[in-house]
Amino acid sequence: MAHYDFDLFTIGAGSGGVAASRRAASYGPRVGICEDSRVGGTCVIRGCVPKKLLMYGGQFRDAFEDSVGYGWDSRVPPFDWPTLLQNKDREIDRLNQIYITMLAKAGVDLFTDRGRLIDAHTVQVGDRTVTAERILIATGGWPVTLPVPGMEQAITSNEALELPALPHSLVVVGGGYIAVEFACIFRALGVQVTEVIRGEHLLNGFDDDIRIALETEMTRRGIRIESGFKPERLEQIEGGYRLTATDGRVLETELVMAATGRAPNSRGIGLEEVGVAMAGNGAVKVDDWSRTSVPNIYAVGDVTDRVNLTPVAITEGRAMAETLFNNNPIQVNYDNIPTAVFGSPHIGTVGLTEAQARDRHGEIDIYRTSFRPMKNTLSGREEKIMIKLIADHATGRVLGCHMLGNDAPEIVQGLGVALNCGATKADFDRTIGLHPSAAEEFVTLR
Ligand code: NDP
Repeated sequence: MAHYDFDLFTIGAGSGGVAASRRAASYGPRVGICEDSRVGGTCVIRGCVPKKLLMYGGQFRDAFEDSVGYGWDSRVPPFDWPTLLQNKDREIDRLNQIYITMLAKAGVDLFTDRGRLIDAHTVQVGDRTVTAERILIATGGWPVTLPVPGMEQAITSNEALELPALPHSLVVVGGGYIAVEFACIFRALGVQVTEVIRGEHLLNGFDDDIRIALETEMTRRGIRIESGFKPERLEQIEGGYRLTATDGRVLETELVMAATGRAPNSRGIGLEEVGVAMAGNGAVKVDDWSRTSVPNIYAVGDVTDRVNLTPVAITEGRAMAETLFNNNPIQVNYDNIPTAVFGSPHIGTVGLTEAQARDRHGEIDIYRTSFRPMKNTLSGREEKIMIKLIADHATGRVLGCHMLGNDAPEIVQGLGVALNCGATKADFDRTIGLHPSAAEEFVTLR
């Protein structure tokens, strides 16, 4: 029998790779992992966590403004961007260290170097070579910018988290999660923000009512949204940039941020050479067990471009480890994955949109309400919450819950449990509301 250095070797120490490696090691196998950037991956180092910390930073503006109606002094204190960045960096350093410690405690050998497959059982890690019975690819993704002249001058979310100074004005290209979140963060911090989208509305794939309500609120906050704007070229001008659209529209701004999607990180790590099949966009093709076309090589997380969310990568990684090392075969259930967009205000959503539900279930019932939350009465803020519930007409089963409002992500996580249990509208109705809250609207919809 062949002897390998490791039973499992993981390339990429982000959410999926770390979760899979730790879970595998807990059952006894020898596990190694390599990472050429910082342990923690996109989520911890340059994604969800730092983004949310900056988002919290921006939210204080609302708190200061709202406090006046509640009797507090009206002065908004000065804001210092470098302080927020330094404190954010310190927290990321702390989390990075926790991840390293967690790997060590789990008995996973960490190699701080780039990994590259030499054959199906051998990985070159820096100037070393290691062998493994099974290999896991968990290399995540990276921002892509449009193939438009000059667009390489735009920053991406990576640089947006490290800006030496806040710009006076910013154009964000794109209308997805990242574009919306950063447009809202920078606006809250006082930047003049314009968001340009090629389609008609932000957040393709989300429920239409929620998309339109979000646009109303973002516009109310002073974010200019230019729809049908297809970038043609980006040029440097004095003090900034000029972005020209194919229809001749021109925007001048101090800084441009491209948030036009992310691509799987699958090139240059030997996958093609060992025969791992990939899709046209570079996504590693896997079966329901996260196994690639090479039987001992697995892949999880954004590099597979299934559902590109941290908790999904973690679930895929743990499922793989349970299946291979604990004789506990698990396939990931991709139904009812709750997700949030941390814009101003937030979106929380789980299940089908109205359009998807109509498509798949035919006759459906829609329940919808839009109201000014109680907190906004004394503060005078105009912002409204929207809540929407979609049920199958024949069975009453709730197919989707959508909310626009700052508590939405916290509320929708719980509703995900209800949807996975097959809750019907009648189940929601017989649940007594928690008063006074925005969440109670989900159980009082008529
Ligand atoms: P998305 O896929 O969400 O959005 C990409 C945006 O770029 C869309 O608005 C798209 O427009 C636009 N775009 C793509 N190609 C072009 C083009 N040729 N010209 C003009 N516009 C273009 O990607 P993101 O980068 O925002 O996020 C990547 C992933 O990261 C998300 O899918 C999500 O899974 C994850 N994420 C999750 C977060 C969370 O959970 N809160 C936060 C951030 C990221 P169109 O809609 O017209 O296609």
